[in-house]
Amino acid sequence: MKTDIEIARAATKLPIARIAERLGIGADEILPYGHDKAKISRDFIDGLRHRPEGKLVLVTAINPTPAGEGKTTTTVGLGDALNRIGQRATVCIREASLGPNFGMKGGAAGGGHAQVIPMEDMNLHFTGDFHAITSAHNLLAAMIDNHIHWGNALDIDPRRITWRRVMDMNDRALRDVVLGLGGTANGVPRESGFDITVASEVMAILCLADDLQDLQDRLGRIIVAQTRDGRPVTARDLQADGAMTVLLRDALQPNLVQTLENNPALVHGGPFANIAHGCNSVIATRTALRLSDFVVTEAGFGADLGAEKFLGIKCRKAGLSPAAVVLVATVRALKMNGGVARADLGSENVTAVRTGAANLTRHIRNLRGYGLPVVVAINHFATDTAAEIAAVQDAAEAEGVRAILCRHWSKGGAGAEDLAREVLRLSDHPPGFRPLYPDEMPLWDKIETICTRIYGAARVEAPPAVRARLESWQAEYGHLPVCMAKTPYSFSADPTLHGAPTGFTIPVREVRLAAGAGFVVAICGDIMTMPGLPREPAANRIGLDAHGRIEGLF
Ligand code: ADP
Ligand code: MG
Repeated sequence: MKTDIEIARAATKLPIARIAERLGIGADEILPYGHDKAKISRDFIDGLRHRPEGKLVLVTAINPTPAGEGKTTTTVGLGDALNRIGQRATVCIREASLGPNFGMKGGAAGGGHAQVIPMEDMNLHFTGDFHAITSAHNLLAAMIDNHIHWGNALDIDPRRITWRRVMDMNDRALRDVVLGLGGTANGVPRESGFDITVASEVMAILCLADDLQDLQDRLGRIIVAQTRDGRPVTARDLQADGAMTVLLRDALQPNLVQTLENNPALVHGGPFANIAHGCNSVIATRTALRLSDFVVTEAGFGADLGAEKFLGIKCRKAGLSPAAVVLVATVRALKMNGGVARADLGSENVTAVRTGAANLTRHIRNLRGYGLPVVVAINHFATDTAAEIAAVQDAAEAEGVRAILCRHWSKGGAGAEDLAREVLRLSDHPPGFRPLYPDEMPLWDKIETICTRIYGAARVEAPPAVRARLESWQAEYGHLPVCMAKTPYSFSADPTLHGAPTGFTIPVREVRLAAGAGFVVAICGDIMTMPGLPREPAANRIGLDAHGRIEGLF
């Protein structure tokens, strides 16, 4: 069987100008990065403002397991399938973080015969957006320490600086560092650390900004520290917002590439799905909607986290309203949800599929609670049996939802045409999207609403200090949505509780204010903002062959 990279290399790519042309974008309205990648120019995007928008389709999934669900693969496969049945469809996905490629993760461009190309570029340096975000973030960090070095006119408390540094690498040794060592010429010593670039608030801001002015306004609102008397210090106080916007000017323009079947894909932005909202940029989604009948997009992790944040943060803030939701499930992942160990996934176990389907059922009910039509996509794996597939279909049909067997991984768009037709049928209704909570609901109540209504928690707990911080933000920031940071592996905060657990408590350990991105982060359990590499990193096996082609990456 061919690997992802072999399939990608065998594809016949069209020049990127041809893909742009299909979207009605002229040759001088793209900024080509080589032959197969281009940014769409800001002027062209500004000119689209009054165009009507196509229909938005969200691809989300049951709770992820190491067995793999294939959301990106399904997003790409559905995009190709919609094009095959005569719709003009564009795929919108996130850019990949470079660091994790060298750990153990697979790529972020889809898989099998449903991929976005050039996948090597997309997973590595691509068009430099993450470099720009890293630079803008670290410029602000440098300006904080510089301000203190030159007299600290703002009276920043060096012990209460929350703005860390970032880089796009898995490097656990940088999680906690001491800065400013080596004498008075080197600044003021203090503790800090590094996060991975995708965890930066600048990344979340780039993905939620409407335009350059909104970008700069949001960057200015970033809170970096407190003064000695406890007042917030912002990037605007440090006069960093202008220069940061300069660094991000080009990165704010979405990147156009193509699928294996030469259909358009916009790949732009990539915020973490834990401490941020985990979906591609608003600008890319809006642009694609104005150029297509259908836009197929993906939200990170399972629907409890990814879809909830896509709907509660991105759609709410950008005024987007999905026409349909595709809930990806695999027989393998349902078996794991039903208690089967990873080593035993190869053998048929219909009972485990039925037990695990409780997870699917809760996600279906949650999504329909938003007033959205749902279809389940069964992403077919070679080991699935007919009886197992029928068990998934029974579980979906018991909820009044169709579950469609999809073979896009092995067959490309042709393998997902049934799914495309069902999406077409479902999206033919007037939009009925109802957000989970209103803006004016108090911050604590928003957290409780998500935990009880989406996760199925019995109660939410938080130390008094957390409740007090939320209270203190209520007047100025109470209208913001909440961004939950919780394990993706379970509805609960315990990653080992599979299926559809009940009676559990969600502990809110910490809250953080992302005033620039425009959300309040509620941290429930340990979250990783700087990953490490495993004992045997993928980097050990990555290299170039005799023709200078990349080997061992996927
Ligand atoms: P997600 O977006 O949910 O994280 P991806 O679409 O990136 O998942 O897929 C994860 C991995 O699983 C990829 O390496 C992909 O090639 C593989 N994969 C997806 N669907 C299938 C399938 N039907 N059969 C075999 N492998 C698959
Ligand atoms: Mg994905």
